[in-house]
Amino acid sequence: MISLDKNKFLIILIAPSGGGKTTIRQAVLAREDDVEYSVSFTTRKPREGEVDGVDYCFISLEEFTERIEQGDFLEHANVHGNLYGTSHSFIKNKMNAGKHVLLDIDVQGAKQILGKGVNAVTIFILPPSESILKKRLNRRGTDTKEVIEHRLKNAASEIDQIRHFDYLVINDKVEDAIKDVICIIRSEEKKIERLENIKDIFYGG
Ligand code: 5GP
Repeated sequence: MISLDKNKFLIILIAPSGGGKTTIRQAVLAREDDVEYSVSFTTRKPREGEVDGVDYCFISLEEFTERIEQGDFLEHANVHGNLYGTSHSFIKNKMNAGKHVLLDIDVQGAKQILGKGVNAVTIFILPPSESILKKRLNRRGTDTKEVIEHRLKNAASEIDQIRHFDYLVINDKVEDAIKDVICIIRSEEKKIERLENIKDIFYGG
C-alpha cells in the first residue's frame, strides 16, 4: 500500500463534463491555503491560454510511456483519446509539505486510486438534473450537437458508478457547491481516525 500522511489526504473531484468541476476546483484552491492542486501529466496538446506546468504538464507519448514504466503514476487513463496521469512523487512532495492535494481526474482514475487503498476523499459533483446539464453544455457554445450528445452519454455511465465514491455535491448555485466542498474537507480533517496522539496532546499540555 502506498503510504501517505494520515492527516493529509487526497481530495478527488469527479464530475461529468459541464458539471462545474473546474470552477469549483479553482475557487477551493484560491480560498484554502492548505490545499494544493495536483498538476496532471497529459499527451493532449495545450489549448489556448493553458500554461505548461500550471494547467497540465504537457508531454509526448514517449515520455508518458517512460513514466508509466518508471512507475511514477499513481493512476493513468485514456480520456477521450488522450493519456492523462497523476504523478505519485508530485503528490508526495506536496503532502510532505503539509498540504492536502486536490485532484481533478476522471472516474477511471479515481477508481484506480481507491483500488490502491490510498487515503483519499472522493467528491462527485452533479448539476441538479440532466436537463440542466444539457442547458449548461449548450450554453458553453464550445461543442457541436454530436459532442454534447456524447458528453451526455458519458455522464450517464459515470453516474452509474457513483456508489464507488464518498460524497455527492449538487452544483445548483456554484457558491453553495464551493462551500459544500470546503465543508467536506474540514469535516474529514476532524475524523477521529485521522487524528493521532490525541491523548498525548490532551494530557501532555
Ligand atoms: P481536459 O482535457 O478537458 O482538461 O480533461 C478531460 C478529462 O480528463 C477531465 O474529466 C479531467 O478530469 C480528466 N483528467 C485530467 N487529468 C487527469 C489525470 O491525471 N488522470 C485522469 N484519470 N483523468 C484526468
